[in-house]
Amino acid sequence: MPFGRIASGALLYVAACGCLGTVGCGADIVDACFLDSPESSYQLAPGGRAVAFSDPASYDHIVYRPDIPGPLFSCVLDEFTRLFKNQPDSLVIVFDFEGLGVTIERALQEAGFGRLADIEFEELTSEQLLAFAEAMKVIGRTPTPTVGSFTWTFRRFEAGVGQGLLQPFPAGPPTLRGFLFLARREHLVGGVFLHEFGHHWGARLIAPPVFAAQTVPTLNHWGYSSVGGVLGGWRPGSLVSTGEGVYEADVAPRGRASGKWPYAPLELYLMGLAGPEEVPPIEVAVGVKRLRSDIFSASAIETVTIEQIIETNGPRLPAVEDSPKHFKLALVVLTDHELSDADWNFYERAMDFLAAPEERLLDEAFPAELYPAHFRAWTGSAGDEAAENNANDLPFLNFYTATGGRGTMEFVTLVPK
Ligand SMILES: [Zn+2]
Repeated sequence: MPFGRIASGALLYVAACGCLGTVGCGADIVDACFLDSPESSYQLAPGGRAVAFSDPASYDHIVYRPDIPGPLFSCVLDEFTRLFKNQPDSLVIVFDFEGLGVTIERALQEAGFGRLADIEFEELTSEQLLAFAEAMKVIGRTPTPTVGSFTWTFRRFEAGVGQGLLQPFPAGPPTLRGFLFLARREHLVGGVFLHEFGHHWGARLIAPPVFAAQTVPTLNHWGYSSVGGVLGGWRPGSLVSTGEGVYEADVAPRGRASGKWPYAPLELYLMGLAGPEEVPPIEVAVGVKRLRSDIFSASAIETVTIEQIIETNGPRLPAVEDSPKHFKLALVVLTDHELSDADWNFYERAMDFLAAPEERLLDEAFPAELYPAHFRAWTGSAGDEAAENNANDLPFLNFYTATGGRGTMEFVTLVPK
């Protein structure tokens, strides 16, 4: 399988940072750029649809220091652009470290220990107990990423979707709107991917003010409103008034990470996958005070229409008749080790599942008996109410299904320069 050295990063560093030689550009940014490391290398997936950038030493910022991840990601983008001719719409960057607690825990589970809560310690042999104790020691020492999954949009090709701060970024392919960063490989398949991809368009509507009062404090999610998509709100129809301005709803103000939620009509509209006439009036709670996860008080419930949204944000252009419906993604894995065939097999299955232009079930793509620990990450721990709800979330939706068959995507076959 192809394996190469990553280029020396000095010039790329200048492009990424733009402040070489000035005080304050500093060592922080230099050591955030992995391209300078003699240990760095890259590895193409067997099917050519993904690349792994490997450097055991250089991703410290993701694990330990979330303060300035920007320069690191611009290095990733520069390196991708240097290596490949592709012009994707978005990069999907997955953090897959062997030395992380989540990875070791997964390996432990797949080695037969199962979920911690299920282990019958009195039934373990003394060797098994010893092995378990050793493994737990390692888990206790290993870090988890301090950076969660997020989306970074730095270029916009449409109007009428609101504004919000586009992030400054080096050029990269002119088609590129930004990247998704997924803090663990399971996020690629579950709802986290759908959520982060949705952030390329939402939720950044600037008005009406009653709506902005929800999206701003929830950091670009739908807050307490009836949008009810992957980026937040309550499930339409679930709002119940319990009197005295107190309400109960199946609500997730900052969105869903569960793969069972499809995109809401408003989200499809912003993505260019639905016309304005398909967006129903939206209820928005005013003066919200959260009382419990599903209970809140509000001074009023107001209604916002798509006409009001268009009036204040302008029409979505290109309109649904002319907007792109097919999205090209490129997968980059940041890792500390050479990925094994089993590792790549996971990514191949994940890409096939997500990009299938038809409804596909997660447990068909990932047989539970082959991926028990991944499934536990997707479904949570059994035995409590939340986990049972999660279990009911299966099967997760792929992109085609989550868009109601309106959108498709592909992970491009990488073309080396
Ligand atoms: Zn979000």
